Amino acid sequence: MDIEALRHDTPGTVGRVHLNNAGAGLMSRQTLHAVTAHLELEAAIGGYEAADREQERIDATYGHIAELVGGRADEVALFDNSTHAWHAAFHSLALRPGDRILTGRAEYGSNVLAYLQIARRTGAEVVVVPDDASGRLDTTALAALIDERTALVGVSHVPTSGGLINPVAEIGRITRAAGVPFLLDATQSVGQFPVDVREIGCDMLTATGRKFLRGPRGTGFLWVRNDMLDRLEPFVVEIESANWDGGRGFTWQPGARRFATWEMAYSNVLGLDSAVRQALDLGMDRIGERALALGDHLRRQLDALPGVTTHDQGTERCAIVTAKVDGVPTADLAAALVRRHVNVSATVAAHTQFDSEVRDVHPLVRLSPHYYNTEAELDRAVEVIAALAR
Ligand SMILES: *Cc1c(COP(=O)(O)O)cnc(C)c1O
Repeated sequence: MDIEALRHDTPGTVGRVHLNNAGAGLMSRQTLHAVTAHLELEAAIGGYEAADREQERIDATYGHIAELVGGRADEVALFDNSTHAWHAAFHSLALRPGDRILTGRAEYGSNVLAYLQIARRTGAEVVVVPDDASGRLDTTALAALIDERTALVGVSHVPTSGGLINPVAEIGRITRAAGVPFLLDATQSVGQFPVDVREIGCDMLTATGRKFLRGPRGTGFLWVRNDMLDRLEPFVVEIESANWDGGRGFTWQPGARRFATWEMAYSNVLGLDSAVRQALDLGMDRIGERALALGDHLRRQLDALPGVTTHDQGTERCAIVTAKVDGVPTADLAAALVRRHVNVSATVAAHTQFDSEVRDVHPLVRLSPHYYNTEAELDRAVEVIAALAR
């Protein structure tokens, strides 16, 4: 990977150290151009006319996303973020009183709220599968908890709050053997390292465009295994997702498009397509190898500093690094980094509620490098943190 060339094509690498790829990755020049060129085309000839002219490239986006996650083009639906994609899948399940949703401690805050809402509305029950000793979802406990009441297993691959990678392929083996739907929130993993639905065995997967995929904000997608469609009833029906039968009925669109709505920001779709193609061209294996190595490098340096502790769980850890400095409020730590032009963010207890129930550690400063960052940039962040820890 030619890191210098990749940085040259990333305007945001000039003048600041961007370690907030778990928040929003930096767009490449090519992706920025894909967005702005389409907006200019819309302004010049009209929005519908611009979409017609770019129809082929817009259609190709589905195939590129499918290639990225190992599915088929007709199994992909586009959304304006990961949350709406996830809700489209989740609320397509008909839950009844006594049904059980099994999830993990690392589950994302909005998913947890949706579980709580549906529990309140339907009488379904939310069960949090315990962690193993390393902090990963305990797959032995999961296997023991699955029974005829289990209507869904919903898991976050990588949490928003740390470097944990959940054992998703093992979870997939368990859910497939039991015939239980598996909804995987891959928002922090897609674009960071290889994610393949065939290897994982999940039935539904959601991701966002703006994080490690480096797409524009306001993009996301849902992948749904084709043979799951019979078990799902989309909760939104409209003129894109269904066809009127001429009478008083309608049929769903074939494939995953039945989950989407008609209107889209095609400039964003083309930006997302550019980012996906860039990830495919670079190779997710190489991207993942470098992103995880940088995370490792950063975590090791921070762990070596007296007064600094990292809090990332699991056995194999990713490019999200969370840390605390003794006696220094996380807000002050983050502010000191931002003053030195190091972009970071902080974890929020309410964004991973089940994790916060057992670990009283949030807020933590969250540093999330990506493959286009350099070791020298990580050293700069470490210097700032070391100075505060002294
Ligand atoms: C950011 C995040 C989401 C939400 O993604 P949006 O695109 O903001 O809707 C969901 N799950 C996880 C694990 C996240 O980190």
